[in-house]
Amino acid sequence: MTKADYHVHTTFCDGKNTPEEMARAALEMGLANLGFSGHSYTWFDESYCMSKDGTKAYKAEIIRLKSACRDRIRIFCGIEQDYYSEMPTEGYDYVIGSVHYLKFGDRFVPMDEGNKNLIEAANAFCGGDVLRVLELYYETVADVVNRTHCDIIGHFDLPTKYFEKDPIADTNHPRYKRAWMTAADALLKTDALFELNTGAISRGCRTKQYPADEILSYLGERKAKVVLSGDCHRSDAICFGFDELIQKCEYYGLEITEPAFTKKTGFS
Ligand SMILES: [Zn+2]
Ligand SMILES: [Zn+2]
Repeated sequence: MTKADYHVHTTFCDGKNTPEEMARAALEMGLANLGFSGHSYTWFDESYCMSKDGTKAYKAEIIRLKSACRDRIRIFCGIEQDYYSEMPTEGYDYVIGSVHYLKFGDRFVPMDEGNKNLIEAANAFCGGDVLRVLELYYETVADVVNRTHCDIIGHFDLPTKYFEKDPIADTNHPRYKRAWMTAADALLKTDALFELNTGAISRGCRTKQYPADEILSYLGERKAKVVLSGDCHRSDAICFGFDELIQKCEYYGLEITEPAFTKKTGFS
């Protein structure tokens, strides 16, 4: 297995370290591959993503690092494309497709910034039914490959981020299971890889990876291919908890693989 992490943020978006600092840490850890995946620009929320000008500078910096490090580590220039981002994805080595928001009319409700947003959306738009919000989330995720043409499906069950501490919905409810299974079935028909993501663990929000174990079990039975993601926002989170993830993949029969990298980085 190639030692690698393809879900890496930097100071170009909401990460704490520069690309060079991340590359240095990856080299010290002995990674063979390092993929950067800055947050794509979203006009409706500029708080966490790369700016439009920043996106150009990001591409230039990663391409510079790619060649500066080429004898020691393979660097890839990817993007974490939000479902509602309108930025082009051509030219990146790979794309992670992520649903960070649900759109209700002209409101974009974040799925990973606290349970209160899910509850407010349920009250405002779904008659107080949090499960309905989750169903709408999975209907959106089911379309993420179609919409973003991603190679990797980002944090499949993201809205459960705070459910360990505050379970505002029953994830054993038949409606919840039907929602994620329907989305998983649709995505399993594509070539995109699911990611096992430890980002919320390294940041202290939870103790378990995305997706939840029962989803991993379902994906394993269907011979899904996966990548491991640190979703790193700091250099010490690169490959965070991967040893445990590797054991889980063996247990559930998930094949860890690499993105295809069929695209050629080249920005016009
Ligand atoms: Zn994300
Ligand atoms: Zn991310």
